[in-house]
Amino acid sequence: MRIFDRQVELSAHLKSVSSANTTIGFVPTMGALHQGHLSLLKESLQNNDFTVISIFVNPTQFNNPEDLAKYPRTLESDVAKIEKLNPNIIVFAPSVDDIYEGKTVSQHFDFDGLENQMEGKFRPGHFDGVGTIVKRLFEIVQPANAYFGEKDFQQLQIVKKMVEKAQMPVKVIGCPIFREANGLAMSSRNERLTAQERADAAVIYRTLQAAKMRFGTENAKRVADYVTDVFDNVPGFELEYFEIADEATLEPITEKIEGRQYRAFIAVFVNKIRLIDTISLN
Ligand code: AMP
Repeated sequence: MRIFDRQVELSAHLKSVSSANTTIGFVPTMGALHQGHLSLLKESLQNNDFTVISIFVNPTQFNNPEDLAKYPRTLESDVAKIEKLNPNIIVFAPSVDDIYEGKTVSQHFDFDGLENQMEGKFRPGHFDGVGTIVKRLFEIVQPANAYFGEKDFQQLQIVKKMVEKAQMPVKVIGCPIFREANGLAMSSRNERLTAQERADAAVIYRTLQAAKMRFGTENAKRVADYVTDVFDNVPGFELEYFEIADEATLEPITEKIEGRQYRAFIAVFVNKIRLIDTISLN
């Protein structure tokens, strides 16, 4: 299996193996791989001649230094999982220096307001960091197709917006959320939960499903009050936000408009570990 830790070497390799008639599929990740990541890789493998995965814990998208320091880094077992799935997958696992060349800062982006909602509100600078790294990785890998999970739905919409505004020749493809048997959305951060917390965290998806049911007959404010009430009564869990928003603009719903697509978004702290999830309401 080919593993690269320097962008110049990866670029040279991709140039030597690909041509105008071949496609590169790309799956950017921060590692600590789980079935959700692997489902994106499978999608890429099915639809491209080459598949590249990047494993890079991007410092500029972390607003919380403790979250960055404690983010799981498990390159060896990640590589083993990738090799087992398909040894032809090309791995790019660069250092911070190789990517940022001594200047670990974000570029500033305008994503037409998508960046001001939810994660953007609660994680200042997060989407500038995401835009910076995704743009850089797209330049290095030059994929035809790039795969992102709907788990990070706001990120998916922002990457689509970046590609559209900068007219990058990349197709951004959203993939469904992979869940644990109890419904908890798979996440690298789940590794930091105790077994009990992981079991208890099923309440997050269970509540989203109940919210979806209620949204059929209740207004958004009442649904939000219900969700707040649920988390007020779960010890150790702290609701950061619950929002029902228009899927396209990510603006919070004011009134239900026929024909619009709505989605619920949630961020919850389980002790100090921050988990997010989302569900389509249509
Ligand atoms: P991360 O390593 O958390 O930055 O995630 C890398 C990519 O995998 C992102 O596009 C995520 O949205 C996606 N992803 C993370 N968790 C899941 C999941 N449970 N199901 C599907 N995709 C996921």
